[in-house]
Amino acid sequence: MQIKGHYRGYAGGFLRVNLATRRTTTDTKYFQYEILRQFLGGKGLGSYVLYNEVKPGADPLGPDNKFILLTGPLTGTGVMTASRLTIVSKGPATGYWLDTGAGGFFGTELKKSGYDGVILEEAADKPVYLHISEDKVQILDADRMWGLTVDETYKMLHGIHGEKIQIAAIGPAGERRSKISSVIIDGRAAGRGGMGSVLGSKNVKAIVVEKGSGKIQMYNPEAMKTVNKGIQELLAPLRKRMGIYWSSGSIAQINDAHAWGVKNFSGEKLEGCEKIYPDAIREKIWNKHRACFACPIACTQVGMINEGKWRGTETEGLEYQSVWAFGPQCGVNDIHAIAYADHLCDAYGMDTISTGATIGFLMECFEKGLLTLTDTDGIELRFGSGEAVVAAVEKGGKGEGYLGELVANGVREASEKIGRGSEKFAVHVKGLEVSSYDPRRAYGMALAYARADRGACHVRPGTHGMEVLGRPKSIDPFTTEGKAEMVKRGTEMGNILWDASGLCKFAAWAISPKNGLALVNAVTGFEINGMEEFSLMGQRVNNIIRLFNIREGMTADEETLPDRILKEAHKEGPAAGLVLESSFIEMKRRYYEVCGWDEKGVPTEAKLRELGLHNLNQGKGL
Ligand code: SF4
Repeated sequence: MQIKGHYRGYAGGFLRVNLATRRTTTDTKYFQYEILRQFLGGKGLGSYVLYNEVKPGADPLGPDNKFILLTGPLTGTGVMTASRLTIVSKGPATGYWLDTGAGGFFGTELKKSGYDGVILEEAADKPVYLHISEDKVQILDADRMWGLTVDETYKMLHGIHGEKIQIAAIGPAGERRSKISSVIIDGRAAGRGGMGSVLGSKNVKAIVVEKGSGKIQMYNPEAMKTVNKGIQELLAPLRKRMGIYWSSGSIAQINDAHAWGVKNFSGEKLEGCEKIYPDAIREKIWNKHRACFACPIACTQVGMINEGKWRGTETEGLEYQSVWAFGPQCGVNDIHAIAYADHLCDAYGMDTISTGATIGFLMECFEKGLLTLTDTDGIELRFGSGEAVVAAVEKGGKGEGYLGELVANGVREASEKIGRGSEKFAVHVKGLEVSSYDPRRAYGMALAYARADRGACHVRPGTHGMEVLGRPKSIDPFTTEGKAEMVKRGTEMGNILWDASGLCKFAAWAISPKNGLALVNAVTGFEINGMEEFSLMGQRVNNIIRLFNIREGMTADEETLPDRILKEAHKEGPAAGLVLESSFIEMKRRYYEVCGWDEKGVPTEAKLRELGLHNLNQGKGL
């Protein structure tokens, strides 16, 4: 199947599955020039599809919500690092927009099997899994798999279908509709926001894709090859740096700069941090690298715990944010406990950032006497205890007892249950936990977290690179000047260049937006006319998601940070004594202004007209 016309890069349609009626169809209605030229694919196309397909007010865990998996036009074409897929849905953790994604080989094989994505609607009446091949789509019984961990599920599916399959599966956490549950795709987590529970609510344990034989057509393969070759050279230094230390290379620098949250953001520098430096992790755990499709960086670290009580446990993808979540956030510098907690999250299907962030919060509650040993089933939930972290992850993964329930549903819900002032140090935005970077040390991050579409997110955009690490250049971390514009630009470019096209964001250190645009044009033939138009496409995505969130009840008051971050100053380091609140208020006001939104953060009619979204907002389509 190929789209007629002068553009390429797509298989040509979605696989649409109604789980209640078990009807499967190929849906080509979104694969029209007018739509693809505006939204491209991945998160971009997903924003348009979700806005149109999910009824206002739908329960994120009810049959009216949809699980929409999309690839981008570059996915699987052979463009370096273009392996990504995105899943969009109404988010269980926030009640608003959610997108999350992963690399690997799943997206490539799906496209080669004839589908750009999958839309799951309604819910099955009993556990099932989806089996997709070029010839047929089957909805198969998953009774035997329900309750299994992710690795056990992979093993069973490989036993049934052989080794040449790619798998997206949930663990027990997703089955139990945990708000911090993930989907593990080809061994990589689509982690944030509880996407695993959307699959769980539909009674879907896994989606399996057989190896496809189709070829993805390109508009100008020669132009693609020329840019691709240049990129390969640019990626070489990145391969050297990230290939050795993955995303953990900056741990020492960030700790020395007092730039991450320690003990639930009550501190900012971890004592004994050298025990979790990348060289220590390399020496004690990592063995080899794994790559996604068409990626020379091969950043994923695979290893083994070689000593102590968890000896013999295999680990994969222990990356910077996970080290932070089970390490500094919980005051822990025991790398074996950190690695084991990470392993458990992958097995139960839980987001490492949200799990560690929640345990850090609960540790503070325990130390303040807001939780007792009865509440924790006898676990001494104190900062610094790696054993306590591992025990709490187990409880959350199994959903055991009161502690298990608190861990499994994230910081906001835990704080609502515990009460007694705990909301002041419940570090989340709109229900999604803040990740490692402390915004008091990088003011742009305060704005980035507060108004990100899926709740606190460190990569839409991340400003800490320039504010703390000086990459690619240094800027003043404590000024408000230019931060609103920076966050706006980063959001728009992130939406379209990385999250819509299929490229991996880690390649951003080597692939310039200009090269990214050249690749999109070479593959699709859309002839997008320069960076201004490309940014406008990203702006359109930002605004349609904004309309979705406002339709679901989001207000400007929710776009904020807790008292711990806004009102409490660091005690030591470069940010000592500085209170963030007034600077944050100024940046947020300015951000709304530069986005063309009113003071309540609502897009103005003029802005919607400029982006061609005015009719959509009136319910009349594009
Ligand atoms: S940089 Fe890492 S995550 Fe990105 S495509 Fe390459 S191997 Fe995958």
